[in-house]
Amino acid sequence: MDFQKIKELDSEYLAKTYARYPVALVGGKNATLADSEGKEYIDFGAGIAVNIFGANDEAWKAAVIEQLGKIQHVSNYYYAEPQVRLAEMLCGRTGAKRVFFSNSGGEANECALKAARKYSYMKYGEGRSRIVSLKDSFHGRTLFTLTATGQDEFHRYFGPFVPGVSYAAPEMDDVIRAAGKNTCAVIIECVQGESGVNALTKPFVSELRRWCTEHDVLLICDEVQCGNGRTGTLYAYEQYGIVPDIMTTAKGLAGGLPIGACLFFERAENAFSAGDHGSTFGGNPVSCAAAVNVIGRLTNEFLLEVQGKAAYMRAKLKGFDGVKAVTGLGLMIGLELEQNSKAVAAACLEKGLLVLTAHERLRIVPPLTITKTEMDEGLSILREVLG
Ligand SMILES: *Cc1c(COP(=O)(O)O)cnc(C)c1O
Repeated sequence: MDFQKIKELDSEYLAKTYARYPVALVGGKNATLADSEGKEYIDFGAGIAVNIFGANDEAWKAAVIEQLGKIQHVSNYYYAEPQVRLAEMLCGRTGAKRVFFSNSGGEANECALKAARKYSYMKYGEGRSRIVSLKDSFHGRTLFTLTATGQDEFHRYFGPFVPGVSYAAPEMDDVIRAAGKNTCAVIIECVQGESGVNALTKPFVSELRRWCTEHDVLLICDEVQCGNGRTGTLYAYEQYGIVPDIMTTAKGLAGGLPIGACLFFERAENAFSAGDHGSTFGGNPVSCAAAVNVIGRLTNEFLLEVQGKAAYMRAKLKGFDGVKAVTGLGLMIGLELEQNSKAVAAACLEKGLLVLTAHERLRIVPPLTITKTEMDEGLSILREVLG
C-alpha cells in the first residue's frame, strides 16, 4: 500500500485519537528506519522510548521467534517459564521481591495504585486511601492513572475522576500539604517524560523517601519511560540513591512488544493476595521472552556505553544554535529551544530525522544501540534545522 492509501484508510476507519506525522514506517535496521515510499530516517525516538535495541535486532528477534515456535499465550491459570525467568531477573537486578505483569505502562501504574490502597487498607483500615502525584506528571490513560496524571489538560471530558488523588509541586512542603493525614502512596517519575523531560532533584527525592518511610506511605517510582537502561542505569531511581516500595515499568522492557511490570519491594511485597488483581494477557510468554533478552543484555558494560553515548550527544547538543537548555538524564534528552518544538520536529522529519516533542521541548530518546554514525547523521540534520 502506498502512503496516500494508508492515510486515506486511517482517516476513514480509525478513531480520531492521534495527530500523526505524515509517514508510515515499514522497516529498518537499528536506528535507521524506512517508510512506505522507501525514504530513510535516523530514529531519535525509538517509538516512544520503546524499541531500545532499534529495529530488526538479531538476538532479540531470535528470542521472540524461539518462543513463538513453542506457544504464543498461556492463561494465568497455568504456570509459565518465561514469566518466572523474567521476574527472577528483575528481582535479582533491583532487589524487588515480587512482580505483577501486565501489558502496558498505564496498567502497571493502575496495579501499583490499587496495591498501595490495599496495603494501607489491610494495615490501617478504610479511608487512608489518598494518592499524591506530582504536577506535570504522566501516569497513563486508564481513569485512575489519568486522574493521577498531574496535568489539567488531561482532566477534561472524562469526569467524574477517581476520588482521593492530590497533586503537589516537587517540594516537600507541598507534598506534605497535599498528603494530609490519609495518604497511602506518593507516585513520582524520577525523570518526567511527557511534560518535557524534567529530572527531579536528588535532595527532593531523598527527602521524599525519608518522609514516606517515616509515615509508612508507599513510594511508587513510575519508570515506564525512564527505566530499562534509558538513563544510563538499569532504573533511574538508582541514580537518586533510593529504593522505591513499588516500581512500575513498561515501554522499553520488552524491546517493542507490549508488556508492563509492577515490582513490589519488601514493604509492599504482600499487598496482593489471590484474586486481588489479574490480567488475561499479562505476562504473555512472547513478551516475557523478549524482555528476558532485553534485561539480560542491559549489562553494566552496556549501560556504560549508554552513558558514553548520552555524554557525547549532550555535549554536541549544548553547542547547537537555538538550544537554550539540555534537560533530562542519560539518553532521555529534552531540548529547550528558541523555536517552536513541533515545527522543528516537522522540519527534521522532512530532512530524514525522527524526533519527538514533549510539551514545549524537543524529546530525544533513541534506541540505546544507536551507533556513532547514526548519532552523527541525526545530529547534523538537527543542527541544520536549528541553524
Ligand atoms: C507512556 C507512559 C505511561 C503509560 O504507558 P502506556 O503503555 O501508554 O499505558 C505511564 N507513565 C509514564 C511515565 C509514561 O511515559
